Amino acid sequence: MNSIKIPDKCFQCGQPYKKKDADLIREEENLFVFHITCSTCNTSTILDIAVGKDGVLTIGTLTDAGKEDLDKLRQGKIISANDVIEAYVSLKSKGKS
Ligand SMILES: [Zn+2]
Repeated sequence: MNSIKIPDKCFQCGQPYKKKDADLIREEENLFVFHITCSTCNTSTILDIAVGKDGVLTIGTLTDAGKEDLDKLRQGKIISANDVIEAYVSLKSKGKS
């Protein structure tokens, strides 16, 4: 498993994300896509995490799609997101955005 992690805090308000705020909506060999809704300011973000040879590239994009749209975002693919996120959160390595 590559050592990638989701951001610790909200891009918008700076409050720490909670684990339940993030849902994994797509997983490919070198690309992970999360949908995160901040429980503090309610801002939804699509987070693309690309894993390359030289490191991890994280791209956050604000979105209007809320949790109710997750099924559409997933395109029918069901993933056990909690297990994955738990592993990532515990990998609080270096790196700041
Ligand atoms: Zn926020």
